[in-house]
Amino acid sequence: MQTALADFIRDTPQGREANEILRSCVHCGFCLPACPTYQLLGDELDSPRGRIYQIKQLLEGAPVSARTQLHLDRCLTCRACESACPSGVQYGRLLDIGRAVSEPRLPRTPRVRLTRYLLHKVVPHTRRVRALLGLARALRGVLPRALRARLPAAAAPLPAVLKARRPHWPAPRHARRVVLLEGCVQPALAADINPATAQLLDGIGISALRASACGCCGMLDHHLTEHAAALTAMRRNVDALWPHVEAGVEAIVLTASACASMVADYGRLLRDEPDYAERALRISALTRDVSQLLAGEGAALGAALLPAADVRVAFQSPCSLQHALKVRGVVEGLLSTAGFTLTPVADGQRCCGSAGSYSLLQPQLSGELLRTKVQALEAGRPDVIATANIGCLVHLRGGTSVPVCHWVQLLAARLADG
Ligand code: SF4
Ligand code: SF4
Repeated sequence: MQTALADFIRDTPQGREANEILRSCVHCGFCLPACPTYQLLGDELDSPRGRIYQIKQLLEGAPVSARTQLHLDRCLTCRACESACPSGVQYGRLLDIGRAVSEPRLPRTPRVRLTRYLLHKVVPHTRRVRALLGLARALRGVLPRALRARLPAAAAPLPAVLKARRPHWPAPRHARRVVLLEGCVQPALAADINPATAQLLDGIGISALRASACGCCGMLDHHLTEHAAALTAMRRNVDALWPHVEAGVEAIVLTASACASMVADYGRLLRDEPDYAERALRISALTRDVSQLLAGEGAALGAALLPAADVRVAFQSPCSLQHALKVRGVVEGLLSTAGFTLTPVADGQRCCGSAGSYSLLQPQLSGELLRTKVQALEAGRPDVIATANIGCLVHLRGGTSVPVCHWVQLLAARLADG
């Protein structure tokens, strides 16, 4: 694609990066069928190719219109288009640049501003999420119906054979050590996932240390174009993780695939920060979604887990796992090895509509994607739906009566020593 970027951006690092990405797009349109918003709306402007064209116009100096802002807002950042693109166009990176350019140029309505402000002020803070959720649940009966519908659904009980073990964090006792970055929302909404992961790892000879001084990975603020807050979160996590790296942990592990994809990108996102660039690169290189760590531990898992449970599992592979981290088939393999029966899921590459804050900012599109995804997941009559990301987990619970959990919890529940 030919480009002629405007003076304000042409010679900046973002301008050079955007120019290279724009030039790599050959307009073939192979990405269109993979795009959930194009599938739903049928408008080229809501497709990857259409958005690339709109970002090109912005970077070439066109004014930001409400229409462009709408089409960029509707993008889920699911990156299914990247998986489908034969030219390797880094769409997600281009969208970040396009949003960073458009955001300050077109004021949003007071209502949208308030919603985004509240998301920025509450979601990345575990204690605030916990307090607000507690309050909202206590007041559930008197809340307006629309607000009640937005409350995260309670977890349906798992089948008896998977009854959760008492969640506790085992004391470190193994020579092999990893550090587990616990995240912000997950400890507030599904507090058992990280201890279950630590128990599972302990059961196969790996001690998981807690990175107590860490917090949100910065992804939510990054997507809300709150770049200063995102950078602060990233720097804090680098400082908190570094002593563990120096002490020789073999990996930095996350159980939320979206957060894993963010931390795996710290090296690039902090490359212009002299005090952080080198450490961030090392941290990114050590970062693993828990599935990436366990992929090489099949034999140890086989020895640590009870024999097959008669449980049918539908696995929802989050976009961050399959499109950002490019981990495909690994969780399914681990669940099969552990004796679970996987049920077929049509259109497995399609987003569930959670997409971070998308379900709150674009509730209609998000709801349509949720309905389609739940239909696909329920089609094989599973006993349990498993996923790999807290946002998807909470979102899916809002659309089905089938229990939804993290896939690691299924494995941890089958530990033989419990
Ligand atoms: S598939 Fe890739 S190269 Fe083709 S239009 Fe989409 S982004 Fe451009
Ligand atoms: S990131 Fe997802 S929603 Fe956005 S253009 Fe790509 S495929 Fe479509």
